Amino acid sequence: MPNVDSASARSWSIDWTNTLFLAGYHLLLFALLPVYLVRQTPSSELIWWTVGGIAVCLMAITMGYHRLYAHKTFTTHPVIESVLVFFGTLATEGSVFSWSHDHRLHHRHVDTELDPYSAPDGFWHSHMLWMFKKCPEPNQRVIHDLMARPALRLHHNFYGYWMVLVNLIFFGTVWAFTGDILGAFVLGTLLRMFIVHHCTWFINSLAHMWGSQPYSTEHTAVNNFILAFLTFGEGYHNYHHTFAGDYRNGIRWYQFDPPKYIIWFLSKVGLTKNLKKVNKITIKRKLVAADRFLMVERLRELSFSFDHEGWISRVEESAASLTDNLNVLKTASDKYQKMKHTGNEEVEALKVRINDVRTSIENEMDEWKAMCHLILESPESRLAVALA
Ligand SMILES: [Zn+2]
Ligand SMILES: [Zn+2]
Repeated sequence: MPNVDSASARSWSIDWTNTLFLAGYHLLLFALLPVYLVRQTPSSELIWWTVGGIAVCLMAITMGYHRLYAHKTFTTHPVIESVLVFFGTLATEGSVFSWSHDHRLHHRHVDTELDPYSAPDGFWHSHMLWMFKKCPEPNQRVIHDLMARPALRLHHNFYGYWMVLVNLIFFGTVWAFTGDILGAFVLGTLLRMFIVHHCTWFINSLAHMWGSQPYSTEHTAVNNFILAFLTFGEGYHNYHHTFAGDYRNGIRWYQFDPPKYIIWFLSKVGLTKNLKKVNKITIKRKLVAADRFLMVERLRELSFSFDHEGWISRVEESAASLTDNLNVLKTASDKYQKMKHTGNEEVEALKVRINDVRTSIENEMDEWKAMCHLILESPESRLAVALA
C-alpha cells in the first residue's frame, strides 16, 4: 500500500474529466443564461425550485458529506443517510469517498503542499484550480472506515451514473412542476450547480483568507459570518479547524449554523446518535491560548518605548494561571460527573471546590478580557499611554 503522503501528493497532469466538466458547464451557463433571460422572465415556481435545490444540496454537503462522513461527528438512521447522499450527489461534488478523502487530507496537512486545496497557494488554487489537477485514487488508509461500507463503495464505483441520474430526476421534476424545460435546465440545473459549487469552494478559499481567528492562529482558517450564511454554517471555519470533531461549526446560539439544530433535533427523536461536542472548558482553554499568542505578538511589534518584557510576562502569567484553573475545573467536573450518583460524601466537597474554582476563573476572566481589549483593540497612541 502506498504511503499516505506520497499517495496524496498531486501530480501536475491535467484531470480532463474534471476540467471539461467544470469548464464546460460554466461556459454553457454563461451562454444560455442571458439567452433565457432575454426570452422570458423566470416564473416564481422556477425560482423557488432553484433556491430549494441550492438549499438542499448545500445542507447535504455540510451535514452529510462533511460532518457525517468526513469527520464522523454523529451517526444517523439509514433513511437520513440516504437522503443526505441523494442530495449530496445532486450537488455534484464527487463521491463520499473522494470528498472525504480530500477533506481529511486538508485537515491533516492544512496549509502544506500535501493539503489538496492549500490556501497559501492562492485564492484560485484553493477555490477551484486544484480540481483541474489529476490525483491518484483515494488512499485506502485515509478513508478505510468509509470503504468498509458496501453502500458507499457502490456509490463511489458508479458515481458518474448516480450523479447523472439524480440530476436528471431533479431536472425532470422541475420541468414537470414548472412546464419550463429550458428554465429547468438553465436555472434548475446549471445555475443551481454553479451557486452550490462556488459557495462550497469559498470555504476552501475565502474561509482561509477573510475573517477572524478567535480560536487558533495555528492554521489559516477564519470565522466569517457571510460565508456561514452562504454555506449553512460552514463559515465558522476557524472553530471547525481547531475542533474538527465537533458536530457544530458555529457554537454560539446566535451563529447561523442550521445543521447543528437539525442534528440536535433529530437526536431528540432518535434519528441521530453519538453527537460529538467539544467541552466548554477545552474551548475556553484554546481561546485563552489564542489570545495569549496574539497579545504577545502585538506587544513585541510595538515600536514605542515601554517595559516590553514586563508586559509580556504579565500576559504569560495571567494565561498560565487561567489555564491552570481551567485544568483544575475540568478534572473536578469530570470527577463530579462520574461520582454524582454514587452518594459518596466526597461529592459535596467536590461541588464546593468546583464553585470556588468557577468564581476564581470568572474573576480572572474579567481581567483577562480587559487586557485583551486593551492590547488587541486599542490604537497604538492609546496603548503608548496605557502601557507606559
Ligand atoms: Zn479548511
Ligand atoms: Zn472539515
